[in-house]
Amino acid sequence: MPELPEVETVRRTLNQLVAGKRIESVTVSLPRIIQRPAEPEAFAAALAGRTIETVERSGKFLRIVLDGLVLVSHLRMEGRYGVYAQDEPVEKHTHVIFHFDDGTELRYKDVRQFGTMHLFAPGEELKQPPLSRLGLEPLSDSFTPDALRKMLAHRPTKIKPLLLNQTYVAGLGNIYVDEALFQAGIHPERSADSLKAAEWRRLYESIRATLERAVEAGGSSIKSYVNGQGEMGMFQHQLLVYGRKGEPCSRCGGPITKTVVGGRGTHICLRCQPPRRKRRAATAGELSN
Ligand SMILES: [Zn+2]
Repeated sequence: MPELPEVETVRRTLNQLVAGKRIESVTVSLPRIIQRPAEPEAFAAALAGRTIETVERSGKFLRIVLDGLVLVSHLRMEGRYGVYAQDEPVEKHTHVIFHFDDGTELRYKDVRQFGTMHLFAPGEELKQPPLSRLGLEPLSDSFTPDALRKMLAHRPTKIKPLLLNQTYVAGLGNIYVDEALFQAGIHPERSADSLKAAEWRRLYESIRATLERAVEAGGSSIKSYVNGQGEMGMFQHQLLVYGRKGEPCSRCGGPITKTVVGGRGTHICLRCQPPRRKRRAATAGELSN
């Protein structure tokens, strides 16, 4: 699933490709992609004649801002956008086509069919689901070390699932959570309420730095991710633990292991990310010596 850096990359390319274009008509061939309004015909009718002003992003969602409407789009597993000339053959699994009045069209293709689109009046999109449920945007000014710590530090829950929960921090997924926890030297099963102040700061800095570097590299092309022009991201080559099971850790040379945390495949260097030492066990060890 594309995470924040991949969606941000799609946003940037789409913005270059479609901003200023006027929609003449919309074809929906898979109605369940359209979540709001309920009728795909109403969705198409509302968009006809509108001009795309800009493409923005909230967490892993794209916000396509038109004159008088906002289209909220989630790519989920494998959703893809591409801009084509109208006479180019339509590929299989293309479910929504926005026909522009300049002879081009924006096509939404989604092999897994999990993607969603919601249409709102401007401003409404932030007050209603799905966007109203999103937590802090990690590349915005609202994301600070204090905000992160205050939100999570009292929770007696494993840190990795907390970071994956979009209602706290929006945009992180399995790849970048593993990377950020590794960089911060924090074991993914540490309970959030056991993290020290310095660890919260390191975690904050790691999340921010990892996402910024990944955005700069155009995201990570793992599985089928490509940007709006069919180009691959490059950050997969800079990943330090994700997808590197059995390889030596770039910091300590120890092996990177893969385990399951909260149902998700998880990459760890156990030397750089030690599980929390149990005080009682240490005392028992001392007594037996
Ligand atoms: Zn290591």
